[in-house]
Amino acid sequence: MPRKCRKCQRPAVINMRQHKLALCADHFQEWVVNQTERFIKKYRMFTHDDRVLVAVSGGKDSLALWDVLLQLGYQVDGLYLGLGIDGGFGYSDESRAMCQAFAEKHPETTLHVLDIPTTYGESIPEMAARTRRGKGKPCSVCGLVKRHEMNRIAHDLGYHVLATGHNLDDEVAVLFQNTLNWQVGYLARQAPVLPESPGFARKVKPFCRFYERETATYAIVRGIDYVYDECPFAEGATTIYYKELLNRLEADKPGAKLHFYLAFLKARETLFAHWQEEHVELHPCENCGQPTSAPGLCTFCRLLPEEVRPRVRHAQPIMVKSML
Ligand code: SF4
Ligand SMILES: [Zn+2]
Ligand SMILES: [Zn+2]
Repeated sequence: MPRKCRKCQRPAVINMRQHKLALCADHFQEWVVNQTERFIKKYRMFTHDDRVLVAVSGGKDSLALWDVLLQLGYQVDGLYLGLGIDGGFGYSDESRAMCQAFAEKHPETTLHVLDIPTTYGESIPEMAARTRRGKGKPCSVCGLVKRHEMNRIAHDLGYHVLATGHNLDDEVAVLFQNTLNWQVGYLARQAPVLPESPGFARKVKPFCRFYERETATYAIVRGIDYVYDECPFAEGATTIYYKELLNRLEADKPGAKLHFYLAFLKARETLFAHWQEEHVELHPCENCGQPTSAPGLCTFCRLLPEEVRPRVRHAQPIMVKSML
């Protein structure tokens, strides 16, 4: 028997076993928007005075987040970094097209696009191959480039807050991995909000309490087109293996993931109340000016060939504005 919406008795599009809540398309959208607002306030992520930049990948989570923040009336724009990843189906081109299509439907917002190969002369896989970082996988180079460029662009364009679309499944997989390895430093920093510090924007994850199937359902009922395929390099990642394990646990014990995450956040308040980050003196990078732990060049600038380095100082994303 198909379930009915708890609020209006119409057919439900989703049944959230962990909340014992089934909702129709309209009431589910309303629920996601209201819950997001609640999390933003609860974790003091940002206010209506802050300028927020959402890192969009063309996937369901980041586009859904952008959509919800616009509905809530925040000052929010998107940032897409073109990584130059093909994977046999034009992954990066398709991702960019999805972000542009979204921006074109929303005249009140702007998409900033920075294409890494055009700007720095190499795609992410090419940078990884040249520098031989990451044992044949470009993910460590990719993470480094994304962190640097997102932070630099947020700063240059005057955004106070960088938001990402990480969902509960992402957060729990990382938490599980960090716990298995007792990565205490990572655990101390795993939170819905990472406060700003000199040279670094505040980082927030407003979707950290939504299951992946909830963000996917939201994107579908809102008619948001997104890239279904994952990045081809995501295959075989350890976090995907942990996600599968955790899905088995969730199937037996609905709500187990949410409980694990929320209980961690609670324990974190006492466990890490007196946690002091190892004090590392930061210096401005000689090339790009961003804070770095060793005097001289930051890791991103060191990654670039010498003749390309000066480009970092002037690299600005292009703006995609709706033509509506
Ligand atoms: S999976 Fe793809 S997008 Fe993610 S870090 Fe690796 S290369 Fe980058
Ligand atoms: Zn309803
Ligand atoms: Zn630098």
